[in-house]
Formats: sequence, C-alpha cells, structure tokens
Amino acid sequence: MAAYEYETHDYDVVVVGAGGAGLRATLGMAEQGLRTACVTKVFPTRSHTVAAQGGIAASLSNMGPDHWQWHMYDTVKGSDWLGDTDAMEYLAREAPKAVYELEHYGVPFSRTEEGKIYQRPFGGHTTEFGEGPPVQRTCAAADRTGHAILHTLYGQSVKNNAEFYIEYFAIDLIMSEDGACTGVVCWKLDDGTMHVFNAKMVVLATGGYGRAYFSATSAHTCTGDGGGMVARAGLPLQDMEFVQFHPTGIYGAGCLITEGARGEGGYLTNSEGERFMERYAPNYKDLAPRDYVSRCMTMEIREGRGVGADSDHIHLNLSHLPKEALHLRLPGISESARIFAGVDVTKEPIPVIPTVHYNMGGIPTNYWGEVLNPTKDDPNAIVPGLMAVGEAGCASVHGANRLGSNSLIDLVVFGRAAAIRAGKVVDRDAAVPGTNTGQVDKAFARFDALRHADGGTPTAELRLEMQKTMQRDAAVFRESKTLENGVKEMTAIAGKLDDIKVTDRSLVWNSDLMETLELTNLMPNALATIFGAEARKESRGAHAHEDYGTRDDENWRVHTISRVDGAKVDLSYRPIITDPLTDEKAGGIALKKIAPKERTF
Ligand SMILES: Cc1cc2nc3c(=O)[nH]c(=O)nc-3n(C[C@H](O)[C@H](O)[C@H](O)COP(=O)(O)OP(=O)(O)OC[C@H]3O[C@@H](n4cnc5c(N)ncnc54)[C@H](O)[C@@H]3O)c2cc1C
Repeated sequence: MAAYEYETHDYDVVVVGAGGAGLRATLGMAEQGLRTACVTKVFPTRSHTVAAQGGIAASLSNMGPDHWQWHMYDTVKGSDWLGDTDAMEYLAREAPKAVYELEHYGVPFSRTEEGKIYQRPFGGHTTEFGEGPPVQRTCAAADRTGHAILHTLYGQSVKNNAEFYIEYFAIDLIMSEDGACTGVVCWKLDDGTMHVFNAKMVVLATGGYGRAYFSATSAHTCTGDGGGMVARAGLPLQDMEFVQFHPTGIYGAGCLITEGARGEGGYLTNSEGERFMERYAPNYKDLAPRDYVSRCMTMEIREGRGVGADSDHIHLNLSHLPKEALHLRLPGISESARIFAGVDVTKEPIPVIPTVHYNMGGIPTNYWGEVLNPTKDDPNAIVPGLMAVGEAGCASVHGANRLGSNSLIDLVVFGRAAAIRAGKVVDRDAAVPGTNTGQVDKAFARFDALRHADGGTPTAELRLEMQKTMQRDAAVFRESKTLENGVKEMTAIAGKLDDIKVTDRSLVWNSDLMETLELTNLMPNALATIFGAEARKESRGAHAHEDYGTRDDENWRVHTISRVDGAKVDLSYRPIITDPLTDEKAGGIALKKIAPKERTF
C-alpha cells in the first residue's frame, strides 16, 4: 500500500455534515466556546436540506389554537407507535423555542397580516389529539424553507468562529481500544491531502441514504456515509426497514412537489377524475399521512385507475388555486413542474408518483443525540464520544413513519440538544485524545484498496443493480416472496464489492473513487433495510407487508437493531421507550391518550 501522510487537527468537537442538523449542532457548540470544526463533502449550503420546501413544524398557534401536546400526539400516531416517547415529547415541547431561535438568527419566514410567522397545514398534523380538524402548524419561508434555514445557520456559525473544512470527505471513524470515538479520518477532495481530526466529541450529521433506491427525491450526495462508518466501526443501525415514499415525486424525474401543495389546497385525482382520497380518508383526505396516501395511490394504479399512457401514475391538481397564492406560497414548485414535467400548474395537473424520500431509520441515539450501542443488560448504553443528529440519526421520533415538516424540526431540535449535551459532557480543560494510529492505518488501507481496485464491476454498474433491487423488492408494498428474493440478491450484490473496478487512481477530484466510497456506505444501509424488512412480520407505518397486513404490537413494538459486517446482517431488537419525560401531574400529556390504537384518518 502507498504510504499516506496526513495532517492532524485537534478540536473539542468535530461535526461531520453541514446540513440543517450539522449546522445547528455546529452553531450551538461554537456559541458555547467549544473549539468546533465542521467537515463537509459539499459546500454547506449545497447540503440536501437546501431542497426542503414545505416547512418546519412547531405549535406556535399563529393561525389558530395549537398545543405541543397535540403535536406530540400526532407524532406518536404518525410513527405508528414505534417512536421513543421521551424523544417525541422533547421534539414537540422544544419545537417552538427552536423555531423562535431560528427567527432570531435571521430566517426570513413568510408572515401573516399581523407579522407573525406564517404556518400552513401539513399531512397528519391535527388538533384535539387527532379528534379535531387539521391544524396550521408548519412554519414556512414560501416553498424554500430549507434554503432559508441553511443559509442563516451557515452565516451564524461563521460569525461564532466555527471552523469549516469544506469538500473534505470523511472516510472512517477512529475508535479507541475501549470503544470510545476519538476522531475521524478525512480525504480533502480538491488537493488529495489526508487529514486526521482528533476530538473529544464527534457528531455525525451526514443525512439520509435515499440513493440506495433507483428513484428518490434526495440529492445524489445522500449516500448514508454516517451509517456506513458506524457499521464498519461495529456499531448498529436501527429501524432501517422504514423508508418513506413521498406521495408526490414528479413522475419520471423524481423531484419533489412539496406536501405544502396539498396543504395550500391541491388534491389528487385518478383516471376517472375522482378525488379518491375522500374515499380512503374521509376526515383528512389529501392531508392524511404520507405512508397512507402513498399506499392509496398505489392501490388506485393497481386497480387500473392510474393516469397517463401506461396508467401508472396520478394527477396532482393545483389549477383551481388563485394565481397569486401559487405565486406567493409555491413559486418553487411551479417552476419545478414546468422544468421537470413540462406542466403549467395554473392550467394542468402535475403527473406524480410515490417516490423514496426519507429514511426513518438510522444510527440509534437517545434524545440528546448520544449514539447507542445496545447490550443485553443495557438497551440504552451509549458510545462515549459519538453523537448522531438529523436524518443520519434515529432518536427515534419518526418511528415507522415521519410526518411532513417533522424532519426540519428534528434537525434543529436535536442539533441544538446535542450542543446542549456536549456543553455538559465535554471537558474543555482535558487534552484532546491522541490519534489511534492503528485505526488510521486501517482506514487508509481500505481507501487504498478501493483506489487501486481492479476488478470486473464498475461502480456505476453495481450501484444501479443495488438501486433497482431495492426499488423492486423493498417498495411501498412488500411481500414475503419479494423480500426473501431481495435479501438473496442484495447479499450477492454486496459480495460483488470485492470485484469492484475503479478506473481513476489519482487523489485530486477523483469522483470515481468518491462514488466508490459512497457505494461502500450505501451498501450496509441497503442491506440493513432489506434484512430488517424481511424479518418484520407485520405492517406498521411505511412497512406495508401484504402477507402480514396488520400491526402486531405484542410482538413487534420493538426497534430493529442491525449490525452489518460485509454482506452479513445480524438482527436483534430493542424495546421502545414508552415513558414520556413529564408526567401527567406536571402538566404533561394524559398517557391514555397516546396508548396504541388503530390509525384511521
Ligand atoms: C426534496 C426534499 C424536500 C424536503 N422537504 C422537507 C420539508 O419541507 N420539511 C421537512 O421537515 N423535511 C423535508 N425534507 C426532509 C429533510 O429536508 C431532510 O431529512 C433533512 O434536510 C436532512 O438534513 P441533514 O442535516 O440530516 O442532512 P443533509 O442536509 O442531507 O446534509 C448532510 C451533510 O453531510 C455531509 N456529508 C455526508 N457524508 C459526508 C462525508 N462522508 N464526509 C463529509 N461530509 C459528509 C454533506 O456534505 C452534507 O453537508 C425534504 C427532503 C427532500 C429530499
């Protein structure tokens, strides 16, 4: 192996990722005077968060009555009773604070007549513990909310002296002999130099792994790098079988049309022009949660009522909305529809289809963002020195299905929580841990082997095989036969990583090598997804199993814990946390209100 020289950097905290979660964590750390580095493979404001359109949920009550307890109830129900109750309470309770902080940092929210933050309705967000009408809870900056948040947080982080390492690709974690995380090994993409970051706390904020699928709304950079690094460090992933299909990806292109389009009054129709959601969800209609709407659309298509030449998609109608409303509230999606579907939304419907959008599963954490490594004796044991936030993590607030606009709020609430926690557990006076050179050598050996890989399978070819298999066998509806087939095929596909072919051997701007590293990260995420799905013999949230059509709380109200080693996946289960943080007497939510029941809309 070529010898790799490297530069060493010492910090209190290193955050990997500069999306909404990474930046909120970075800002919170830096504000407390912790020496903080943020490492990111793309320029911060190009992170996938920039594409978030619809908004961020918080019970501000700007448009009508709302309470954090109602938000918490909706989140619990939305999760199909698989989320951790303490984390879901923390999310809903802290959400208003986190949004007002964003406002004060400078996020240019849309406003009401009185100058308050504008809020729109979103799927699954209701009043009166699911008994009342939909609520307007989703705070928005037109349909560019993520863009506004990302730019604001980046500016504030720079102002607070956080140090950015931009276009540095994190390859692997550095773990100490006694199982703590002490740093991360990185490759600087534009000059090929190598860098070792030693830190008292490493925060993974690397985003989701939507690109394990063929058709996804997520950016090409969403390759689950944090999950890959964690799996290689012998640490687990959680609830990976729960993959959200967004009802309205543009047919063919896959780009997203925000749920805010339905929040503003848009609706879906089939080939008969019928507003079919009225039949499936008499109360919430087009604003039922995403897993449910995606299944209804799929059923309409299966029963021959899809639109288009192949009857294989659905129409989203906006043309009845006033032009000014479209211009004011949904300018971005009007443009996307024109560019990617050739449609003028003021005149014609947009062709849409359920498209992979969000990963509920990820690196297991508690509600402080501390990474868990469950053992027999302690299902909530933490990994010292390691946190995970944002879509890379699984706190778990989204359980089996995430509500729209609950991810952006997850990013800022838990990014902030991680900073609060780090402020307490990181000892500023202690020395930064030294480099475990054995681990660094191991990371370089893996890197070097891929750099010189000379097998028979080009990266793009193997990636496509993986994506098509996942798309086919771990879809909106799943059945034992396809899942078993998926497990077999994905095992074989993961095995072919040994036969990978990389053509470019250079170290500068080597996208061939970078995409290969990303593929080695996508693969464990994909394996955990299909193995977890095959094993889960029930239907819950986004996991709709045709051979096991109902939810089975007695046997399956548990988190799936998967440890991936090469092409092998070891599954175990961890109990979900059912206790809230505050009890009823302290003004908390009446527990009986969130006991599991059937999800109807
Ligand atoms: C099109 C679209 C629209 C959405 N709209 C909404 C919405 O309206 N409301 C809502 O609540 N949610 C929405 N979501 C979901 C939400 O936007 C995402 O879940 C969220 O933005 C993820 O943020 P993140 O900070 O976890 O990761 P990301 O924003 O994906 O950022 C990941 C960061 O990690 C870095 N990184 C990754 N790997 C490495 C590596 N190996 N080395 C160094 N750096 C690395 C990247 O450079 C990047 O900075 C939407 C998602 C999509 C795809």
